[in-house]
Amino acid sequence: MTETIEIDYLPALESRISKVDFSKMVFGKVYSDHMFVADYTKGQWKDFRIEPYDLLSFTPGSAILHYGQSVFEGLKAYRNDVGEILIFRPDKNAKRLNLSAERMCIPTLSEDLFMKGLTELIKKDKEWVPSLSGTSLYIRPYIFAMDEYIGIRPSETYKFIIFTCPVGAYYSKPLKVKIETEFSRSVQGGTGYAKAAGNYAGSLYPAKLAQKEGYDQLIWTDGVTHKYIEEAGTMNIMFVVGDKVLTATTNDTVLSGITRESVLTIARDWGIKVEERQVSVAEIVQALKAGEVKEAFGTGTAATITKIETIGYEGANFDLPVDDERSFSTRVLKELDDIRTGKKPDERGWVYKV
Ligand code: PMP
Repeated sequence: MTETIEIDYLPALESRISKVDFSKMVFGKVYSDHMFVADYTKGQWKDFRIEPYDLLSFTPGSAILHYGQSVFEGLKAYRNDVGEILIFRPDKNAKRLNLSAERMCIPTLSEDLFMKGLTELIKKDKEWVPSLSGTSLYIRPYIFAMDEYIGIRPSETYKFIIFTCPVGAYYSKPLKVKIETEFSRSVQGGTGYAKAAGNYAGSLYPAKLAQKEGYDQLIWTDGVTHKYIEEAGTMNIMFVVGDKVLTATTNDTVLSGITRESVLTIARDWGIKVEERQVSVAEIVQALKAGEVKEAFGTGTAATITKIETIGYEGANFDLPVDDERSFSTRVLKELDDIRTGKKPDERGWVYKV
């Protein structure tokens, strides 16, 4: 059955855009004029609307405030040279939102609703898509429980919201990361593969401890043995060792990053050897000691490609070169940027024009 998606529009009385300095964008502090909202009640998504970005109201007994039944996505829109708006692989985010939703007993929504809500919102706030190099419009779709009930069970009512923020770089410099061997971000059978709110809350404390030691972020290892590398902060992680790109396989403990998949596809198309497999801490530490790790970097929508300049393990720090123009991470970042901003032809059908 195809659903009819009619979206009401309640425009903001006054745009806030004139107050924004687009030359000084930081990540996630500035919000565009409107948001897309849908409500889930009686087993259906309904009341689709675009309204001013504004406060929400909850009762103190709202389930979401207690048990975190909430999932989210992150994607970006860019401007090409002729001013058109391009979104990078939004279909992937729609699918992953539903995958996350299923894990958290949250009702899924049709890809059509996701795409229509997104497209209409971006059209209304098109002036908010920045054009300066290194900037983009970050898009945050999310679904959360709305029941006023403090017993633990899946909520019967939800909200799906999309809002957007013009952004600059998430990380402004290469990172110092520490291989975490005590805390875990996720465990087998857990929720690590989902973009579920609680995963992020649980990762703050270990990251805070590492920050006290002078690191920016953590490299997460498997929750059982801490012998295998999984992700870095909220990014997937890759290493260039010898002539190969190594990265952890995605499974139920690793988020299947869209940037990760895009980077691996580009690498394979370039004829570079890629190994998606269990990557052990021991082999990376040994390769670091032998000077065989040419590059390490994180991949993610917010962070794009973020180089890692130092890896800490059991008190020792290993430094990596980060400024080589010929490096794989520099090349692949440029390639991705060129595709996302329409500077290169979109041969893989990754770019959605609004
Ligand atoms: N891992 C985690 C835990 C994340 O939150 C993200 C950001 N979505 C990623 C990896 C990277 O995923 P993507 O490339 O799809 O943004």
